[in-house]
Amino acid sequence: MPELPEAETIRCQLEEEIVGASIRRLDLHDRRVARAHNSPKELTSLVEGRRIVRVGRRGKAPLLFLDGKRPATLVFRLGMTGLLRVVPPKAPVDKGTVVALALSGRKHLRFIDQRRLGSLVAYPTHDVDATPEFEHYGPEPLSEDFTPGYLKNAFSRRSARVGIVLMDQRVIAGIGKIYADEVCFRAGIRPGRSVRRISGPMCARLWEAIREVLSEGIECRGSSARDETYRDVYGMRGSFQERMYVYQRTGEPCRVCGTAIRRTAITGGRGMHWCPECQK
Ligand SMILES: [Zn+2]
Repeated sequence: MPELPEAETIRCQLEEEIVGASIRRLDLHDRRVARAHNSPKELTSLVEGRRIVRVGRRGKAPLLFLDGKRPATLVFRLGMTGLLRVVPPKAPVDKGTVVALALSGRKHLRFIDQRRLGSLVAYPTHDVDATPEFEHYGPEPLSEDFTPGYLKNAFSRRSARVGIVLMDQRVIAGIGKIYADEVCFRAGIRPGRSVRRISGPMCARLWEAIREVLSEGIECRGSSARDETYRDVYGMRGSFQERMYVYQRTGEPCRVCGTAIRRTAITGGRGMHWCPECQK
């Protein structure tokens, strides 16, 4: 599933490709993608004829800021397998295409989603943090709002396991199972440890690992691991999987100590990967 580094890669590439373009038409290849709206027409009326003034991101979601008669923001909820692709209008339509946006400048922005768990939502505002979708979101982990003090305070008000809290979008926006696994490894902390048992120094290590791992993920243009279908806007794979220590390496030797990597189901049936020797 695309997480912050993948969504940020998409954001950067879309900024290069489509800022300034107008959305001439929105074609729904699968009406279910508009399910957050009362009708597909409600979605198209907020989008068609608008100009893309800026590309943004909140957590795992790329955003298009539109102007025209009224401001609007288009949110791509990528779900498990959502991809965005910029192609010439005549490019063959990939299987799994759920939406095509015909843009000025002879470009199409296509939303491809094999498992169809993603969706497209437009809000009649640019203030995304005021929308029901994002109002409870935690800070962006690479922003100045995300400090070691903030993390310590967030942990002090919870009792769940670290792996789960890292993936809670209300605490930190943008982390999912890939980067949560890698953050815990780099910090030397078991994902199953309760946040109540995270000391001050452990919390500082986690804070640092979050910034480091996500920054590396962005430098690598995201990760296209074994079961990940993620590709960027140009159809290219990311390379963060080459730097993974634990994610999807169950039974393989730890790259640091040689111990077999373990997979444990943590609340909600999510399997998390970790090294029983390197992580305490
Ligand atoms: Zn190890």
